[in-house]
Amino acid sequence: MLTKAPRGTKDVLPSESYKWQYVENLMREICEFYGYKEIRTPGFEHTELFLRGVGESTDIVRKEMYTFNDRSGRSITLKAEGTSPAVRAFIEHGLYAETQPTKLYYITPVYRYEKPQAGRLREHHQFGVEIFGAKSASADAEVISIAMTLLKKLGLNNLELRINSVGCPVCRKNYNKVLKEFLKEHLDELCDDCKVRYEVNPLRVLDCKVESCRRVTGEAPLITDYLCDDCRNHFEELKKYLDAMGYNYIVDPRIVRGLDYYTKTAFEIISKDIGAQGTVCGGGRYDGLIEEIGGPSMPGVGFGMGIERLLLTLEQNGIEITKPEGPDLFIAYIGDEAKLFTFTLANKLRFNGLKVEIDHMERSLKAQMKYANKLNAKFAVVIGEEELESKKVKLKNMATGEETEILIDEIEKAIKN
Ligand code: ATP
Ligand code: MG
Repeated sequence: MLTKAPRGTKDVLPSESYKWQYVENLMREICEFYGYKEIRTPGFEHTELFLRGVGESTDIVRKEMYTFNDRSGRSITLKAEGTSPAVRAFIEHGLYAETQPTKLYYITPVYRYEKPQAGRLREHHQFGVEIFGAKSASADAEVISIAMTLLKKLGLNNLELRINSVGCPVCRKNYNKVLKEFLKEHLDELCDDCKVRYEVNPLRVLDCKVESCRRVTGEAPLITDYLCDDCRNHFEELKKYLDAMGYNYIVDPRIVRGLDYYTKTAFEIISKDIGAQGTVCGGGRYDGLIEEIGGPSMPGVGFGMGIERLLLTLEQNGIEITKPEGPDLFIAYIGDEAKLFTFTLANKLRFNGLKVEIDHMERSLKAQMKYANKLNAKFAVVIGEEELESKKVKLKNMATGEETEILIDEIEKAIKN
């Protein structure tokens, strides 16, 4: 127990963390180019926020939330998704009163009690983007292009962008009626979950992964045939923007997303290499959410991307992230006096922008040089009595073995050149 992390969690070890840093830096950089600013919200929220903001008929609320009472009896839930906390903060801090739209991004852990498997964890991480206050389809297209740009920059070119429109409360009501009539004839062929969905949110039967349900819904009427003019126009506009950017996409009426608050656009970006956990990114429009949570009536659109799934997809596509380079300099020492000098020199050089390592293990000179090699140091110097005296060192290029005698004071300049 003591030395085993809880089921469904994962340590990111130093041998892997550079990959996380690389993709996270890229996410931040791309968001900066698009003018999205970071928002950081707490690791837990009042449970009511997720009940409201995610919806009681969703898998997340029905069976996946980490909910507990704190010591004073308040019901608390670990962050189960990123959108509703961002909306809560948007309302709480009056950001809706500022110039719109509000463009936000986050990189955050997310907690869901799930059956752990590859690409499905109990603590996973999401990169998410939200734009509040803009109802134009150009906003939908912009968030999609953030995800697509990231994936393309990472070298993933074979992912599928699937889009759909789930309509609005007006046209979805009509469609739900038609869909329910259709499903009624096939109730006994649906899985138990879908029998519940049929009652509370029939649309969600469409994205059930169970084979028998998929067979049934393969014949179901399509929501895209029931959209009102406003929703249909929005969907056509979105396609126009995606075409203009040259993105390939598939209109897939099964993409309905797990969350209740979605309206109009729903989309997923799918990698076919990681099986059932192939959805790397999912998002859509949620024009009713901000008001639902207690803010003004304002539209919104965004996505969440699973970072573990993203890394898994990179791996499966044979895309390697370059390992960080070794230190610029390793300073070996002989004797205590030299160690103190070395320690101080290393500190000064680091302050001036060089990556410098020294030995802390009382290694022999030979072992220090072996260690320098292992660290992949670009240069090495040895400092002993003689060097302290002459203030000169032999700067060794570790790749070529070439040695140049220089003043200790010239090390920084020599390496930077
Ligand atoms: P799924 O259908 O795979 O359960 P979801 O609809 O629950 O996904 P969202 O709530 O939209 O997913 O989350 C956005 C993204 O976060 C997903 O597309 C996926 O990449 C990732 N994700 C969701 N749940 C997990 C999890 N348990 N472990 C790892 N990544 C996850
Ligand atoms: Mg899920």
